[in-house]
Amino acid sequence: MTHHLNDARRVYGIDGTLCGPRLDGLIASCQRWNSAVEPNPKYARSGGYHEAAHVVVAGVQGIPLTEKGIHLDRWGNGIAHYLDRKPDGSVNVGTSAEREKTIIATASGWIAQNRVFPCPQSGAAQDIDQINALLTEMYPEGSPSWYNAKETLLCESRRLVELH
Ligand SMILES: [Zn+2]
Repeated sequence: MTHHLNDARRVYGIDGTLCGPRLDGLIASCQRWNSAVEPNPKYARSGGYHEAAHVVVAGVQGIPLTEKGIHLDRWGNGIAHYLDRKPDGSVNVGTSAEREKTIIATASGWIAQNRVFPCPQSGAAQDIDQINALLTEMYPEGSPSWYNAKETLLCESRRLVELH
């Protein structure tokens, strides 16, 4: 596994290949757009991509889906139902396949949405909270392992979104 943490612009994936620019900037720009007062019609469509990506990327990793499916509103707010791993307050768990799969599926929402419409309205902040909470159960928050895992898992999520 190759990591180049000192390079602010590039991320390397699980297989060591260049994955693309860091995603932190996308998160920041999307959060800024969340303050818009009127719903942009594109929100609903991009929200569809967001939730669809969750279930597709969950599915290809073997995470069970549930019968509730996907719900969306005109703001593009939505929820996708699959059996994700919820943070439970554990510490120093280390590598955890279940948490990693959930992080990959959770990140896929806004990665897919950004391909359609940069700066989504829907609940990316909640997704990011869940990702960070699960990472913090595996590794001390802010440690090199924490950042390594985050970048690698986001990179894998992007790879799966582009593949499917
Ligand atoms: Zn989401």
